[in-house]
Amino acid sequence: MPVVLPAAVAVALRGALAAVSPVSCAGCGAPDLELCDGCRDLLRARPVEAVHAGLRVVTALRYEFEVREAVLAFKQHGRLRLAAQLGPALRAAVDLALPQGAPPTALVAVPPSPSGRRSRGWDPVTTLARAAGVSASVGVLVVRPGRSSAQKRLDREQRARAREGSLRCRVDLTGRRVVVLDDVLTTGSTLQEARRALEEAGAEVVAALCLAATPLAARASS
Ligand SMILES: [Zn+2]
Repeated sequence: MPVVLPAAVAVALRGALAAVSPVSCAGCGAPDLELCDGCRDLLRARPVEAVHAGLRVVTALRYEFEVREAVLAFKQHGRLRLAAQLGPALRAAVDLALPQGAPPTALVAVPPSPSGRRSRGWDPVTTLARAAGVSASVGVLVVRPGRSSAQKRLDREQRARAREGSLRCRVDLTGRRVVVLDDVLTTGSTLQEARRALEEAGAEVVAALCLAATPLAARASS
């Protein structure tokens, strides 16, 4: 019978293994270093703004090629040290979305899917927020029991429909300005669902912030 490790133990083991096994650049795979100079440069933020279904969305990085590999290495392969590069990139997007002097605004993190939480044992969005030096409200938005975001094979419209009603806001946000925070933007259906749930709780959702967006999502304007 296979041994199932608690997620926290699995993460610790992965970290220990990474310390003794040969490492390669998280972006391009160059040997013997965590991140090469070229990929480090690619992970410097180039924040852009787009509009998704009327929602202003600011993203720090383009989710393609080496950047995509590095984000996946962080998120799916537990290379948490990459937070040192990804955090400042996110920070640049935060500064663009919420410049000095902006009215008080809460950053609300999109919760991980139940399957992501189980398999990783840690939360990429809040880890990134911490590395960016911003405080994000965690646990305000929760996934409704029985709803999963494992919808990779669905098309854009099906994903949006399946997403609808999947998040719930646990606190009354009447009159509060809120920015939604997520890691990777693809179709935008998660952000729209987060906005729906937050508005239902009385919030004014003024923008969304993502670490990285696919080239198509980064350009979207509608
Ligand atoms: Zn590289």
